[in-house]
Amino acid sequence: MKNKIAVKLTLYFSAALLIFSIVIGGIFMNLFRKNAIEIHKKELERRALTIASTISELLGGYRLNLGRGMGGMGMNMHGGMGPYIRNLNTIAMADAWIVDEDLNILTTGTMAHRHYKYADLPSDAELVVKDVFKGETTFSEGFSQLLEVPTLTIGTPIKIGGEIVGALLIHSPVKNMDDAIDSGFKILIFSIAIALILSLILSWILALTFTEPLKKMKKTAIVLAGGDYDAKTGVKQNDEIGDLAATMDLLSQRLKEASKEREKLNKQRQDFITNISHELRTPVTVIRGSLEALSDEIITEPEEVKEYHKQVLNESKNLERLINDLLELSRLENVDFKIEKEVLNLVDVLNDALRSASNMARMKNIILNYRGNKELFTYEGDYGRLRQMFLIVLDNAIKYSPENSSVYIILKDNKIIIEDEGEGISKEDLPYVFDRYYRVKSPENKTGTGLGLTIAKQIALRHGIDLYVESQENKGSKFIFDFKTS
Ligand code: ADP
Repeated sequence: MKNKIAVKLTLYFSAALLIFSIVIGGIFMNLFRKNAIEIHKKELERRALTIASTISELLGGYRLNLGRGMGGMGMNMHGGMGPYIRNLNTIAMADAWIVDEDLNILTTGTMAHRHYKYADLPSDAELVVKDVFKGETTFSEGFSQLLEVPTLTIGTPIKIGGEIVGALLIHSPVKNMDDAIDSGFKILIFSIAIALILSLILSWILALTFTEPLKKMKKTAIVLAGGDYDAKTGVKQNDEIGDLAATMDLLSQRLKEASKEREKLNKQRQDFITNISHELRTPVTVIRGSLEALSDEIITEPEEVKEYHKQVLNESKNLERLINDLLELSRLENVDFKIEKEVLNLVDVLNDALRSASNMARMKNIILNYRGNKELFTYEGDYGRLRQMFLIVLDNAIKYSPENSSVYIILKDNKIIIEDEGEGISKEDLPYVFDRYYRVKSPENKTGTGLGLTIAKQIALRHGIDLYVESQENKGSKFIFDFKTS
């Protein structure tokens, strides 16, 4: 089945509604029943009190001849009393009796002179009469097996001059209740059925609004899995589903970026292989050519032989540098490789690097200006690698500066700045200078592997140093090492 969630949601909603209806229906029926009995009770009480007070008044100055036991049944029926008692059932609109404390029926509505049997009284009469002779108007609830409805018995005292002379009992089934409950029940069932149909339709529509975006997301996921990272869900909702869709869109964007990054890296790697092959081949070709010329004794002049040896030595040094750089970078990029740290004075490290760079600077008549605001800059790090980091940046500053210019080395607070007056780096190239194998392509920039700044950055990263560059084309570059120590 395709719309499993929609079907499930619809069923859950309908089941919830059904349970709700049954509970509410039950409560409603119960309250309805209680209310009907309560109304009936009030009505009976009103009638009983009126009748009891009328009888008391009619008896007036006469005394009920209420001898205990069966002998005392001679009720005085003077004046309007006789007809009133005879019509007691009609007046009470229910079965009515007047009894004494021992439940002897003094009279009944229909046949005032007959003696009735005890069994004619309602089954709860005894309890009611007991309370009545304590002076209370009291109720008892029962159930008629015959009519299958609840019954009510009310008892109230008949008094003459404050003395309780008898108990008026009225017994009545709570009529019409079943009819009312029946019609109430029918209305309830009808309403539940309508509500169920409506809820089925509504919950189906609602469920579809849930499943529709899910379907869109599934489609997007399939497209993404197929490698098309331009796919977007197109779901815009301000809820959890919307959040999920937004996360998926973000994922596709990240995948796209990662794929671009991968392509860029691949391109750089290919460029590097081309570069490195060239870099390797040139010295190897020179070395081989020179050695062949020497061994074939094509070159025999001592001066020339010396020159050839010098060239072979230089090219071997270049080769060594390149191979060392590659090894160093692969070591630094390996997370398992731990660098050895010791407490050192950064001023010493910097001076050491400056000494090494001074030769190259002298050749281009470049002045290295050192300005430090402290003699001692204690730091924990790898001496050799920190020296290498400074040297890479210093070498570049000299390499990319014109002759007779100046390079400034400034130590201020927790920062070391190496600033030159060279060609600078364009805005387009600036974000990439620390990338592996990245070299600005210009006719002047012929040597180099694009590994120097990558190594410097890796050393900085390993030490927690923030290394960044600010540069303006044709004005110069500024490499800043932020040591971030307190
Ligand atoms: P390279 O071996 O090419 O010098 P680097 O990683 O050291 O490699 O530098 C990357 C690129 O950054 C260089 O090719 C160069 O174009 C540019 N660059 C680095 N330092 C400077 C600088 N001080 N001034 C101008 N350009 C620089």
